Amino acid sequence: MAPLSSESNTVLPPVTVKYTKLFINGEFVDSVSGKTFETLDPRTGEAITRVSEAQKEDVDLAVKAARAAFDHGPWPRMSGFERGRILYKYADLVSQHGDELAALETFDNGKPLDMARILDIPYSVEVIRYNAGFADKIHGLTLKMSGQYQGYTLHEPIGVVGQMIPWNFPILTFFSKVSPALACGCTVVIKSAEQTPLTALYCAQLANEAGIPPGVLNVLSGFGETAGASISSHMDIDKISFTGSTQVGRLIMEAAAKSNLKPVTLEMGGKSPLIVMDDADVDKAVNIAHLAVYTNMGQVCLAGSRVFVQEGIYDEFVKKAVARAKQQVVGDPFQPGVQHGPQIDKMQFEKILKYIQYGKRDGANLVLGGNSLGNKGFYIEPTIFSDVEDDMQIAKEEIFGPIMSILKFKTIEEVIERGNKTIYGLGAGIITKDIDIANRLARSLRVGTVWINCYLVVGADVPLGGYKMSGIGREYGSYGLTNYLQVKCVISPLQHSPW
Ligand code: NAD
Repeated sequence: MAPLSSESNTVLPPVTVKYTKLFINGEFVDSVSGKTFETLDPRTGEAITRVSEAQKEDVDLAVKAARAAFDHGPWPRMSGFERGRILYKYADLVSQHGDELAALETFDNGKPLDMARILDIPYSVEVIRYNAGFADKIHGLTLKMSGQYQGYTLHEPIGVVGQMIPWNFPILTFFSKVSPALACGCTVVIKSAEQTPLTALYCAQLANEAGIPPGVLNVLSGFGETAGASISSHMDIDKISFTGSTQVGRLIMEAAAKSNLKPVTLEMGGKSPLIVMDDADVDKAVNIAHLAVYTNMGQVCLAGSRVFVQEGIYDEFVKKAVARAKQQVVGDPFQPGVQHGPQIDKMQFEKILKYIQYGKRDGANLVLGGNSLGNKGFYIEPTIFSDVEDDMQIAKEEIFGPIMSILKFKTIEEVIERGNKTIYGLGAGIITKDIDIANRLARSLRVGTVWINCYLVVGADVPLGGYKMSGIGREYGSYGLTNYLQVKCVISPLQHSPW
């Protein structure tokens, strides 16, 4: 691990912040109250800048603009070809501004700049283009019907959509929400996470440049309990899409039910099992587990945070996992080659350190790390616990940090049962050379995504979502567009059918 870090090691970010106000009806405006809040640099815990803070009145203004744009504006009425053309232009602009956006993302979130450049930005562009391509391919069915009637279905945009996103992949979750909704002809009010408002505001400006009409996309910065709650309980919002914790997902569903019963799509937390069978190539398995746990400093909903290793290779696996994690380059995320930056904020930082204490308290074996790093910011060492048991807190709860928990198992039956013994059902990984075992496990695990001999491989065309308390609905892929469509049936008499 690279040493950390004296004050002088903090790199000057290659970016300046341009947009800090709320984006409502095509314009950057102050919040009605004039209130602002700080967004922090996770490398230091110091303020980057202040951004306008949306509250209920600002949500009302944004919804009013989105409603007018939906009810009377050109966006839902223009041809799919035209909407697609504008969205392709939007994707091109995001790509052209990719370096600046990547730097802004790193500044606000702390993820390695190398990663923002090769993953977050290109993947976001791919997601916009994927959805843009669907804009002119949304159509219904012709229904023959029995008797003297015919029918057809119209797939209509669902209306004004409210969206809330987390801080771990700010720009990617922004576009995973916004681009399918826009492709379908919806109008949007989206609230970024309070920890990471900056790239969403930058992308609001690019929406204007792409030619997205005023009111179609409204971008708010603000807190969950105020702005977020106003969105989920709003009577004039037709649909909610949320990505974040299971705890908040429940509140959002409640608010949606108690207001106008708007449908909700929820993408939430996980405690995903990664199962390594005795026949696996241990070096490959260790590399996959490393990626599954430490990507984005463990701040990944799909993280393979319970690594089940079969008894025959358990000791070798633990030894090699420790050696592999020691190679992780930890440091200032703006430094080339750094793989592991700070956690997002003080709250997460303290929560993760608390879980490390829980692991020790409950008798897990701390074989690597376990400490914070440096004298400022929110850095935590890549950490490994072996001899983890199912009922320990570190094995049950989502930690969202760089902690690998390694559990031992004997039989397939046992690992199926233990793998499924969780409230979550987001992802799972299987590492084996035996196709029959892989198939059996893939069918037995109650999760939305199963990776065989790989992990965290995702794509704009691949649906993502959870079983159980990890989610409701799917995002990405063609499934993702259905969240934003209503199906209307039109039926009429048919007087002279030859058939
Ligand atoms: P969070 O639930 O605290 O916040 C997510 C968003 O909801 C933020 O914008 C927040 O301001 C808002 N919010 C908070 N309280 C609210 C309320 N009462 N009403 C309305 N909105 C409210 O989650 P987080 O800490 O930002 O993100 C981490 C979580 O997100 C983890 O649990 C992770 O697993 C999950 N996540 C899931 C996916 C997925 O695809 N399943 C992807 C990324 C992150």
